[in-house]
Amino acid sequence: MAAQSKIKASEIIEPGDDDAVALAKRHLVQPWPYAGSVGNEARALIGEGDGIYITDASGKRLIDGPAGMWCINVGHRREELAKVMYDQAMALSYNTPWYTMNAPSAELAKRIADAAPGDLSHTFFTTGGSSAVETALRFMQFYNNVRGRPEKKLILSRGGAYHGSTYLSASLNGRPRDRDWMDGADDLVVKLSSPDPFRRPKGMSTAAFTDFLVDQFRDTVARVGADRIGAFVGEPVQASGGVIVPPDGYLKRIREICRENDILYVSDEVVTGFGRLGHVFASGDVFGIDPDMITFAKGVTSGYFPLGGVIISERLLEELRRSNHPDALFGHGLTYTSHPIGCAVALKNLDLLEEGVLQHAREIAPYFQARLKTLEELPLVGEVRGLGLMACVECVADRESKDPLQLDKDVGKRIDAHCHELGLLVRPLINMCVMSPPLIISSEQVDDMVAILREGISRTMDDLR
Ligand code: PLP
Repeated sequence: MAAQSKIKASEIIEPGDDDAVALAKRHLVQPWPYAGSVGNEARALIGEGDGIYITDASGKRLIDGPAGMWCINVGHRREELAKVMYDQAMALSYNTPWYTMNAPSAELAKRIADAAPGDLSHTFFTTGGSSAVETALRFMQFYNNVRGRPEKKLILSRGGAYHGSTYLSASLNGRPRDRDWMDGADDLVVKLSSPDPFRRPKGMSTAAFTDFLVDQFRDTVARVGADRIGAFVGEPVQASGGVIVPPDGYLKRIREICRENDILYVSDEVVTGFGRLGHVFASGDVFGIDPDMITFAKGVTSGYFPLGGVIISERLLEELRRSNHPDALFGHGLTYTSHPIGCAVALKNLDLLEEGVLQHAREIAPYFQARLKTLEELPLVGEVRGLGLMACVECVADRESKDPLQLDKDVGKRIDAHCHELGLLVRPLINMCVMSPPLIISSEQVDDMVAILREGISRTMDDLR
């Protein structure tokens, strides 16, 4: 490792001895801990949020660069959302979804069907993204069982993918390191390449790379057998894999191969749905595809309540209704499906999106991308890429060869630490920093964000000298 940096990557975000942090260290398990520090990984304590900002325990105000976890789409502290949750809790805080239903869930399902592409007509609500993907996969299994095709269950997924942390959804994950120490249903999953143009083979044009990806998909279907493959699951833009924007036309071609081979196309819009790309759903409005199912979560409530869902095509439901097994049971349910508070806040959130936030996101996105792109002037930065209000700064050891940095340089963590000191929360992913601020960000705030990121990267370059 280069000369010990002036700053240890974890130093700034290392919590002080606030009571909550001390308690957390004793009793709380945070997500993605390492074995050596499990149960002792308390991170910076955040006390408040307001608009695009959060404030940490020391009183430092930070731009919420990742919008929580890609989710605070309409911003923190929206009184309209708080009020609707209070009112709904006072009216009806919960109902038994097996035997009864509530009005907000029905109204929300209708609004979602109106916004969704193709014939996606019905929504099953879940508690988040993992349970949405899990539901879509279990539905595919049930659907093929009812159709008398019990062999048609394999799932195609790609390198760089992230689809969740339940057993089956996590089995689809393709990011480096996610699965190294974890088990999965590997016999159910077939992996394909990530559609990452930055990492395409040297000397290959983007058009040739797209053909390569499509050929690989078609060849895999032929090799494995369409009669054994039930679904393809893909994010329109691979989010946690480093904001991988697929090459033009790729998704449409994959969609067609799925249609030709009776493979269900599941578009995982947990990140891209509800405004991140300027539309309620990106599958139709941005990429021109009509999936068989769309999964969503996060932005549906702007993170104010844990809610997700899977939207299912009318064609599939009609096939089940007409099947030879009308009393086959889809044995799948969640206590908190169609939660009235979650659905009520999602309805209000959708109002806010449709009354201006989506349009603002579409208008500010080119500026956001262009300003971030200027960071490519820095020698450590290999590429800045993105779409809508999601972007990734990928750092490299060498810009010409695109060689990745050694992991022990902890570049992402260093940038994160410097930016935290300077007033910006970033989401480090090994050697990448992902930026996905609340959609209400102004152009001046984009300038502030990029200026801090530039300084954070410059300081990191000083550390590594
Ligand atoms: N799908 C995608 C594309 C995601 O990015 C995520 C989470 O980041 C999930 C699914 C899982 O969602 P959750 O964490 O709400 O279970």
